[in-house]
Amino acid sequence: MRRFEDTDEVDLVVVGAGAGGGVLTQRLARAGWSVVCLDAGPFWDPDGDWVSDERGSHNLYWTEPRQIGGQTPVPLGSNNSGRGVGGSMIHYAGYTPRFHPSDFRTHSLDGVGADWPVDYASLKRYYEDIEAELPVAGENWPWGDPHSYPHHAHPVSGNGDVFLRGARAAGIEARVGPVAITNGRFGNRPHCIYRGFCLQGCKVNAKASPLITHIPDALARGAEIRPDSQVSAITVDQKTGAATGVTYFRSGVERHQRAKAVAVAGYSIETPRLLLLSTSRRHPQGLGNDHDQVGRYLMVQGAPQTAGRFADEIRMYKAPPPEVSSEQFYETDASKPYKRGWSIQTVSPLPITWSEHVTAQGHWGETLREYMRDYVHWAALGALCEFLPQKNNRVTLADETDRHGLEVAHFSYSQCDNDRQLMRAAQSSMEQILLAAGAQEVITIDRYAHLVGGARMAQSAELGVIDSDHRVFGVPNLFVVDGSTLPTQGSANPALTIMALAARAADRMIALGRQCPQAASR
Ligand SMILES: Cc1cc2nc3c(=O)[nH]c(=O)nc-3n(C[C@H](O)[C@H](O)[C@H](O)COP(=O)(O)OP(=O)(O)OC[C@H]3O[C@@H](n4cnc5c(N)ncnc54)[C@H](O)[C@@H]3O)c2cc1C
Ligand code: SF4
Repeated sequence: MRRFEDTDEVDLVVVGAGAGGGVLTQRLARAGWSVVCLDAGPFWDPDGDWVSDERGSHNLYWTEPRQIGGQTPVPLGSNNSGRGVGGSMIHYAGYTPRFHPSDFRTHSLDGVGADWPVDYASLKRYYEDIEAELPVAGENWPWGDPHSYPHHAHPVSGNGDVFLRGARAAGIEARVGPVAITNGRFGNRPHCIYRGFCLQGCKVNAKASPLITHIPDALARGAEIRPDSQVSAITVDQKTGAATGVTYFRSGVERHQRAKAVAVAGYSIETPRLLLLSTSRRHPQGLGNDHDQVGRYLMVQGAPQTAGRFADEIRMYKAPPPEVSSEQFYETDASKPYKRGWSIQTVSPLPITWSEHVTAQGHWGETLREYMRDYVHWAALGALCEFLPQKNNRVTLADETDRHGLEVAHFSYSQCDNDRQLMRAAQSSMEQILLAAGAQEVITIDRYAHLVGGARMAQSAELGVIDSDHRVFGVPNLFVVDGSTLPTQGSANPALTIMALAARAADRMIALGRQCPQAASR
């Protein structure tokens, strides 16, 4: 791996080597930029570092202190974000659906949410590129902008079969996929072995993440990936207001990497936190925050999970949790009192997560033991409900500090009435499917999944943090390229969209650098 000195003024420093940062680093390294990508976590070795064990995989998550509040606080930890090279995609499930064209225009179409300053058409070719690069396997997709996938759909297990059978009986359309899991050998990656530890980091390397898809190519093109390096601030030139690099902690020592441009890709909580931490005389409220927009409109999908008990053994652990999905309820249904919708997917919790499902129902002691003994008879589905972006759902800085003395993020979250209605409607659609498949009992818990937003893309600095080129308003050579940039979230899992946006952002940055050297400062 090529290495740069802190004193080298590299073309770009990227903060975070996850879904957004990994793709951006690879694209710009390919374009000949000198790039250093810093990540707070380790450079994982799947073979040596990961275990096919639920409890033993806890170190994959970002568990640094964070505070939560609001009327319906969102627990932060293993169900939100990852750390280390590959980011949250190390332990993501592997679902890779596209957003629908309507997701980019919810305000115009439905009077809720926000319109993006980019549309589906401008992202489409990047979706296709990333789907080929991961690659994605699935049946032909009839929803949103209908499309096919580069790899054939995987065979399904007991849980997937329950979903397909129940959906058919209930008159609901369901399809196999889309998952970023190799179906057959792909380069040096082997076929999935269907052992179901996708959320524990796939030791086999069948499940795609930037660690094995985009980072190796970035290294081959001369980028440096610097792990165990937590960025504490973006530095700016007090005269010009332009970014000059980042300050970061490595092995307890504070250092500074010089750069001509900076891109932040630290996930929805840590990206706004870093922008807020980066105060200076010229930007006393933090970067991109002249209009108090940083941290706002942070979203989380409502993710109720419904399990059904069957007389036959289902053994839902015997396959990747991501298998089958339905987007039949994705769009606004004019006959309903709520706007927007939800998707449904197989989830297949392993035993510890299953015990959390059961205890969340209030079962304990002997009944809990009975549910656990009965584990092989259960199937589980999860919904992703499009909760709406709200101004006061936001990250601010707390009084508490972390081990580096930096203020931690405080995340305040409250659901609105539309959100609650979606959750109940989604629950009843999952119960309908499981009962139609022959379930004798169904139980549901409410959960959250997938944080996005907090540094959203908008037409102007009064409405958001970055423009449609991912450039932070008021700082010409500072970019945000991760899930925090999403103005709405749809009811699709977000990683593919984040990667497609990063690929598009790279092209925009290259074009900006070409047209106007000051724009991207290279
Ligand atoms: C359990 C689980 C299952 C999921 N399943 C799916 C799924 O099936 N499909 C899907 O599309 N999505 C899924 N997701 C979500 C998906 O993984 C994330 O939305 C996506 O990875 C976010 O991309 P990102 O670039 O915003 O951040 P990340 O991929 O999280 O990358 C951020 C990186 O920045 C680093 N970082 C943060 N702060 C700093 C700092 N100050 N200095 C240096 N480095 C820093 C972190 O260590 C991390 O590596 C899942 C998430 C979880 C938790
Ligand atoms: S089921 Fe397949 S994708 Fe999931 S961890 Fe096992 S080998 Fe990897």
